[in-house]
Amino acid sequence: MAGHGGVRAAARTLLLILVCLLAAVSGLQIPLRYHAGMHTNSTPDRSRYRPGAEIAIDLGNTNSCVAGYGPGKMEETLFRFCIPSWVAFADDGTALVGEAAKNHADADPEAAIFGFKRMLGLRRNHEDEEGVVQRLIERVPYRIGAKNFVSPSVQVKAKDGAVRNLDVEEIASVVVAELKKMAEDHLGRKVGHAVVTAPQHFSDPSAWAAMDAGKIAGLDVVRTVSEPIAAAVAYGLRGKLREDGNALVLHVGGGTADASVVSLMDDALEILAHRNDPFLGGDDFDQRTVDYMVEVIKTAHGKDITEDRVALRNLSMACERAKKALSTQDHAQVSIESLLGGTDFSHSLSRQKFEELNEDLFNKIIALVERVMAEAELESKNEIDGIVLVGGSTMIPKIQRLVKDYFGGNELDMRVKPDEAVVLGAAALHVHSSENS
Ligand code: ADP
Ligand code: MG
Repeated sequence: MAGHGGVRAAARTLLLILVCLLAAVSGLQIPLRYHAGMHTNSTPDRSRYRPGAEIAIDLGNTNSCVAGYGPGKMEETLFRFCIPSWVAFADDGTALVGEAAKNHADADPEAAIFGFKRMLGLRRNHEDEEGVVQRLIERVPYRIGAKNFVSPSVQVKAKDGAVRNLDVEEIASVVVAELKKMAEDHLGRKVGHAVVTAPQHFSDPSAWAAMDAGKIAGLDVVRTVSEPIAAAVAYGLRGKLREDGNALVLHVGGGTADASVVSLMDDALEILAHRNDPFLGGDDFDQRTVDYMVEVIKTAHGKDITEDRVALRNLSMACERAKKALSTQDHAQVSIESLLGGTDFSHSLSRQKFEELNEDLFNKIIALVERVMAEAELESKNEIDGIVLVGGSTMIPKIQRLVKDYFGGNELDMRVKPDEAVVLGAAALHVHSSENS
């Protein structure tokens, strides 16, 4: 058996060499499959096989970003733009995206779609072991169905009033197309090639779905890059880690959290272990604050606002604003104009109260870190040489403190804006600036 396996492996290698030689002679570009670590190879190696990417796209569950090199005063500078990952369909069938789509939720909540990245690449009943689709169905006002009884799809109303099922890739492509357009407007030219970030490692079906979203948006996606690897690159870990050194990458965004242990092996970053929680993030922290404020309003004004959709949304936005302010201040005002039939509402929220309301959720983040550490099978926490925090929610001081304490007081590196780290790392890795290509 082993003998056969060896012969087969040798034959495969020979075939691969032959194909590569052929390709080199004929100038063909073969879409080689490579493991996550190869994402980190330097530019010259990559450009032999593939066209360079002009932009990097990070499709997030809450916010999505595009980055690339564009005209600056003296030289080309790195640009980036981010928009909310929301898509909505107006009554006349027009697609709205970003902030406009988010605003459309007030008028027609069923037509505003968000939080869909979790479903990318999922085959319902087959690969959705965690029941992500079912849990999302319970949480969102828009309709999720199953196309051909396998892939989740989103029901939207078309121009003629008919209901259409759109694949999650198609919804995502609306966001990607907008980011592409923003980059094109900035650069003053068309963009054709992109690198797209994807959760976990590249062979995951969600990575292929992210590529499809790019394709539908008219982009040739030359490769995907693993999100934790892109984040690690943005923080300069390739240069900082010693061989076989490890780092923890913790992402806490608006709706999802994931933790990875990344190692430097043979000069390339590899994912040693990865854990994901598809329903843990900033939205949950906002919700806790909203629930608390609903009670405050009941006590102070004797009114229950839970049946008033618009009031609830205004309260939710005010709570998110207060949450962000509490990342740098001890107190923040939760203020809403004309909340209760014209009366303004304002209540002071302390950082301490906010932390108390979210204590169990913050502990869940540390439990996620514990799980990924167990999976990585490192001998001790001391084998973690770097900690990278990504995602807007890691700006919360309590989360930073808990992570720091877990690793015995190691200083955190917070030089890169955590919600931009992934797209900036992906651009640094794979986007040509015309000056260095
Ligand atoms: P994702 O990458 O998952 O799409 P982001 O990294 O953009 O998400 O994070 C969005 C979340 O971060 C939102 O819940 C937002 O409220 C939260 N956030 C952004 N800035 C801050 C801040 N300064 N303090 C606390 N939370 C923040
Ligand atoms: Mg993000």
